[in-house]
Parts: sequence; C-alpha cells; structure tokens
Amino acid sequence: MNILIFGPNGSGKGTQGAIVQKKYNITHVESGVIFRENIRNDTELGKKAKEYINKGDLVPDDITIPMILNRLKENDCSNGWLLDGFPRNREQAVALKKALDKENIKLDFVIEIHLDREIARNRIMGRRICENDGNHPNNIFIDTIKPQEKNGKMVCRVCSGSLSARSDDQDETAINKRHDIYYNTDEGTLSAVMYFKEVSRQNNGAPAIIEIDGTADVKTVSEDLLSRLK
Ligand code: AMP
Repeated sequence: MNILIFGPNGSGKGTQGAIVQKKYNITHVESGVIFRENIRNDTELGKKAKEYINKGDLVPDDITIPMILNRLKENDCSNGWLLDGFPRNREQAVALKKALDKENIKLDFVIEIHLDREIARNRIMGRRICENDGNHPNNIFIDTIKPQEKNGKMVCRVCSGSLSARSDDQDETAINKRHDIYYNTDEGTLSAVMYFKEVSRQNNGAPAIIEIDGTADVKTVSEDLLSRLK
C-alpha cells in the first residue's frame, strides 16, 4: 500500500502516520527526517540543505525531488510506503505523479488531516512536556488535556510531574512560516493536495482521498482514519 499524508504542523500528522505505518507494515518516509540525518552525517546533501532548513525555508526542488524519488526506489519501500512531508508544493506533486506513472507504481491513498490554523498554532504553543513521561498529554490551550494546578504551579495532569515547554514550540515566527507554506492554496502544500484531488477526480477516484477532521483526540482520529483505509 502506498500512501501520501498531508496535515499542518500541529495536526497530529506524525502521530497518525506512525499508527498507519505500523498497522500496514509499510515504510515511513519523512522528508524532514532524511534531511536531518544528512545534516547530522555532514553529507553533501546535508550541507546544501542546512541553510534553508535553519531559516525554515523549503529546500529547493532540485535537491528535494530527486532525494525523495530515489528514496522510494530503495528495497524497504517495495512493500509500500507512507510519504510524509513531501510533496510540499505543486511542482513536487507533479514530479511525484510523473515518477510514479513512469515506474508503474500505484498511489493508493491520499490522507488529508484538516485543522484550522489557529487551533494548530495553539496546539503547538500550548504543548507542555512532562519530566516523567514525554507522552503524557498536557496542553494549556486544550481543555480536555489541561495540566492540573498544584500550589499555584501547572503540573502534569497524569502524574503531577513538572512541566516544561519545548523551545522550538514557542517560536511563533517559525510556526507561522511553516503554516504560511502549508495553508497556501496557490503555491504551497494545499496546492499539492488540490492537485491530487484533481488527479483522483479524473481517474475515477484513484487515488482514494481520505479527508479527516483533526480536531478530535488521537484515538478518535486514528479510529476514523483506519476505518477508511480499506
Ligand atoms: P519537517 O520535519 O517535515 O517539518 O521538515 C523540516 C524542514 O526540512 C522543513 O522546514 C524544510 O526546510 C525541509 N523540508 C522537508 N520536506 C521538504 C520538502 N518536501 N520540500 C522542501 N523542503 C523540505
């Protein structure tokens, strides 16, 4: 099974992607992870990509497109893949479609997680990390997972552990920049989603488009998603 997953930063795309990848035993290909690995290993690609990534800009298509198309040709992708973080604009979407057609590879599903920009921003900025377990859900802006108050201090709602905010979650300029790219329907990531919806319309529903409401909790969203991935 070959799947594309789209969703803004803060929509739970990474979490849902991991659930789908596990369930179908397919390879999770994340463009951001590949870039970060290359930067860590100081490869030529990493050196080129670093300056763009540090500014929160997209890495140019002439670097990104071949990198992803080559990754999808690797052995571990022959059983299927879940592509996350690519395509991020229309040009990448067209290049991907062309490459898949050329190799006779079927794209089965395109998942789009819908989330209002304001909610996505609050989810990121309100996230608090528990010192005892990073998976304990705490968010000062979401009523259902609001931390508890103890002696005038916010503590983990699950275990009363101390809470802290991740510094990159508090960088509003960086969050806005990423969301500007995602929500841009002319040239950004939503234009890539629209492109695949058009492909689907012209192809009798292939690939199948699954639009998910990302406002609910992780379990509700994943149940909705898995029930439609058939
Ligand atoms: P991510 O982890 O998906 O947020 O990606 C981290 C960074 O890698 C992004 O802010 C971009 O600079 C770069 N990047 C990831 N995917 C792409 C892509 N499809 N096209 C261009 N740049 C990308």
